[in-house]
Amino acid sequence: MDFTLSNDVVEFRAAIRSIIAETVTPEVVDEMHRSGTFDLPALNLALGAAGYIERAVPGLGKGDPVELWVLFNELEKAGAPFDGLAINIMIAGVVVAVGTDEQKARILPSIISGEAGVCMGYSEPDHGSDVASITTRAVRDGDEWMINGAKMWTTMAHKATWLILLTRTNTEVPKHKGLTMFIMPMDTPGITVEPVHTMATERTNATWYDDVRVGDDAVLGEVNSGWRTMTVALAFERGVMGGTNAGVPLLRHFRLWADKVGLSADPFVRYQMARTAIDMQVATLLTQRSAWIAGSGGLPGLEGSMTKLFATEAYQRSVRAFQEMAGSSGLLQFHEPGAAADGFIDYDARHAPVTTIYGGTSEIQRNNIAERHLRLPKAR
Ligand SMILES: Cc1cc2nc3c(=O)[nH]c(=O)nc-3n(C[C@H](O)[C@H](O)[C@H](O)COP(=O)(O)OP(=O)(O)OC[C@H]3O[C@@H](n4cnc5c(N)ncnc54)[C@H](O)[C@@H]3O)c2cc1C
Repeated sequence: MDFTLSNDVVEFRAAIRSIIAETVTPEVVDEMHRSGTFDLPALNLALGAAGYIERAVPGLGKGDPVELWVLFNELEKAGAPFDGLAINIMIAGVVVAVGTDEQKARILPSIISGEAGVCMGYSEPDHGSDVASITTRAVRDGDEWMINGAKMWTTMAHKATWLILLTRTNTEVPKHKGLTMFIMPMDTPGITVEPVHTMATERTNATWYDDVRVGDDAVLGEVNSGWRTMTVALAFERGVMGGTNAGVPLLRHFRLWADKVGLSADPFVRYQMARTAIDMQVATLLTQRSAWIAGSGGLPGLEGSMTKLFATEAYQRSVRAFQEMAGSSGLLQFHEPGAAADGFIDYDARHAPVTTIYGGTSEIQRNNIAERHLRLPKAR
């Protein structure tokens, strides 16, 4: 494959960089860590107004996966709050892929303008990796569906306008075949949101569904085809939409600090910085490969697993090494006097663990690679 970026993509990247420079200020980054909400309405609106959200949504506008990767890669390298935007673009892509014309007309304009956000209710307290076993029930009741259950880790539920919700509609068939996906407004009566604060400052949520009533117009995809809808969503998520270059801002912060305290001349410190730079370059190329496969009409399910596994574990190795080199100052948080890299070493050390959990854990990625690439026997 050819890793050269086309002129179009280079221009797109320059435009994205300039929007980031205008909207992602140090105050914004500070507020993101203070509030735990990794979303920036001003950024989303600016991207929406320029037509870049529509352009990035798979299957809509230009829908070039290489541009999608460039968008999130620039946001990630800048340390911008982009979790909300990533979910919005991913779910807009799902609506394009499996939604009805009525749903597309009703839902997409609010997302591509940057005004509305989306949250994803798949995981439950007892079902994360094995998400096909979820128990939240949607039962037919006259012309409506009545939904009852609980979800865990519903990130952005406290800000979102729309909710995509995975439910069980048939208990008599194998677990993957009895699932239905819904999309509904977050202010639908019966939905409760409670905050869950994580050690990485990121806020996520637990959500409850008590006699939530929706019509057929809320079914996203076919009834009992929720697994197919999930597969579309996950294929977009893994390996293309951010999460593969977190070591880049980490390295930038560490390097500035190492220069300031006179550590940059230390051969071991230099070795670790070079190691991180190489790992992040490899992660970049792996991500570009996934994007290229998607751009050529394929679904980079396997390559996305390889990319995510390599990139997130490399990030964890880097931050562990940097924290050891920073010593006790690497344990101090944002705004604490003497904190290494203004607190970013501590932050990254607390953030890195979650990157091998969400979007599919490392074990799940390894199973995927073992089964689909190495053709080893199924793990379960
Ligand atoms: C900060 C955060 C944000 C999140 N945001 C969202 C969101 O917006 N929406 C949403 O729906 N979900 C979200 N998630 C949930 C996330 O997708 C799950 O945490 C993840 O899928 C793992 O599920 P689990 O936590 O239930 O762990 P489990 O599935 O219980 O796994 C526990 C351990 O067992 C291992 N394991 C499980 N199955 C296997 C297997 N077959 N083979 C080998 N090892 C295995 C896992 O790798 C892990 O180490 C979020 C999670 C976090 C932490």
